[in-house]
Amino acid sequence: MTSIAFIGLGNMGAPMAGNLVKAQHKVVAFDLAQASMDAAAELGVGLATSAQDAVKEAEIVVTMLPAGKHVLSVWADILPNVKPGTLLIDCSTIDVDSARKAHAMAAELSCLSLDAPVSGGVGGAKGATLTFMVGGSNDAFAKGEEILAQMGRRVVHCGPAGNGQVAKICNNMILGISMIGVCEAFVLAEKLGLSHEALYDVASTSSGQCWSLTTYCPVPGPVPTSPANNGYKAGFASALMLKDLKLSQEAAQAAGAATPLGAAAAQLYGLHNAWGEGAADFSGIIHLLRGRTEA
Ligand code: NAD
Repeated sequence: MTSIAFIGLGNMGAPMAGNLVKAQHKVVAFDLAQASMDAAAELGVGLATSAQDAVKEAEIVVTMLPAGKHVLSVWADILPNVKPGTLLIDCSTIDVDSARKAHAMAAELSCLSLDAPVSGGVGGAKGATLTFMVGGSNDAFAKGEEILAQMGRRVVHCGPAGNGQVAKICNNMILGISMIGVCEAFVLAEKLGLSHEALYDVASTSSGQCWSLTTYCPVPGPVPTSPANNGYKAGFASALMLKDLKLSQEAAQAAGAATPLGAAAAQLYGLHNAWGEGAADFSGIIHLLRGRTEA
């Protein structure tokens, strides 16, 4: 049994903390929102009155927060209260710069640290089937791998500090671009009189095959479990796709990498969100590409 502090109990954090309780760890958690605290308490998670209080006895601290500024502020608050040698793991999706700053803050106080963003969404958080993309030292990874595995199905060490976030934004840039590509192909097929089923049957077994087509197919029918069959209810919200595409664009600019399709995808998801579709599944961008907002 490990003593774990968990800060940030939202849609992802609460079920992840619940899975650590199921794995027999002692979990003490904190969130600014009472509703999030209540949701976690129902899963057997112990509650603290502040983030500083939650981390006092912890051997491992996990944060699952909205953005880089929240992570840096929470880590600055808790680091003076943790024991030297404690491992801090940030599972939020944040910008690479903030992730590397957080690692440096931890190192200054002789703590180990990992950036470990996830893929797999709320379903993966509940079912403990997340993929963790992990950046940090070999020592930190050796200490954190087991508890990450208890919240997910795959734990991949991507290299030094920040590389988990790099892997995450690169993966999601592929995803955003490929979803738009798949949507454009369905819209073109519609205009030219090819049925959704016929395009799916060909592309899913040909060189156009990809996750956006075969798992999140943006038209109802060919993949019965895709969000398109459920009124485009997320799934993976368009607002989160936009967040990740913006992070990859910021990183690309800072690194001097040419990502013209990533930039176009960020613009299109910006429009989709501006149309009030941020809460809908990201595959709903097909409506925008058809030139109308309804299915
Ligand atoms: P969420 O908004 O549901 O939860 C965030 C929680 O953090 C909230 O409960 C909020 O009250 C809490 N919080 C904010 N500031 C805090 C502070 N200073 N101290 C304590 N608690 C604080 O978000 P989520 O969907 O759980 O996502 C969390 C992270 O995971 C984000 O970085 C997101 O990009 C990433 N992510 C989300 C998904 C998804 O499908 N939801 C998938 C992959 C990655």
